[in-house]
Amino acid sequence: MSIPAIQVSNLHKYFGEHEVLKGIDFRVDQSQVVCVIGPSGSGKSTLLRCVNRLEEPTSGKILVEGIDITDPETDLDAVRSRIGMVFQQFNLFPHMNVLGNLCAAQRRVKRRSKDEAVEIARRNLAKVGLADRENVYPAHLSGGQQQRVAIARALSMDPDMMLFDEPTSALDPELVGDVLAIMKNLASEGMTMMVVTHEMGFAREVGDRLVFMDDGVIVEEGDPRAVLSDPQHQRTQAFLSKVL
Ligand code: ADP
Ligand code: MG
Repeated sequence: MSIPAIQVSNLHKYFGEHEVLKGIDFRVDQSQVVCVIGPSGSGKSTLLRCVNRLEEPTSGKILVEGIDITDPETDLDAVRSRIGMVFQQFNLFPHMNVLGNLCAAQRRVKRRSKDEAVEIARRNLAKVGLADRENVYPAHLSGGQQQRVAIARALSMDPDMMLFDEPTSALDPELVGDVLAIMKNLASEGMTMMVVTHEMGFAREVGDRLVFMDDGVIVEEGDPRAVLSDPQHQRTQAFLSKVL
């Protein structure tokens, strides 16, 4: 049996006195797509950010491909380089054109030659349908195009897994579909994905598992169709009745 891509055990996270994650056990297997839903403030982003140590866990254990990232001896940069991250707000560099955005980290972190970085960037731009936009600056792209660039940038680092934090929440409704289609395509290629989302259609169609969080705990998880159509817990029912 292969090692899980992500295995979180008894994770607690405090911000000051405020306990934001209250003992999370969570696992993503390789090539699995796990979607995470829950009300605002329930700890979804904090959980995601703990997985690549953008946040420091207070206690508990997080294994990424079997490597304990809470161990001070672990080379965090090496682990992080296996994890692609896509945020709600795209986070592109505004002063660089699309190609520059896709090449910067490849050059700095992967130490790729310019030619190699450009070739990889172009391949990934084609994959997100933006091959003709490499010289454009982010401000001249729609939100959906910017997010597709952000996905291509993450993919250019050859990640083993991708973490998405509400990747379509900042987009106009008509632009959401293009981004979800790219994510669906990635999933079908076998990419391991953890996706915080409010897109229940995506969760139902693409997700292998759906996790519902509320107030720092995982209340319920399971097959997305089952959780969405027949939630077992009152808190899940209440949340879904508001969003569905
Ligand atoms: P979600 O993504 O589910 O909306 P978050 O993980 O962003 O939830 O936040 C969970 C809780 O942690 C919220 O109460 C939020 O205010 C708090 N929180 C998040 N980040 C910080 C921070 N850097 N400092 C203090 N509190 C934070
Ligand atoms: Mg969040």
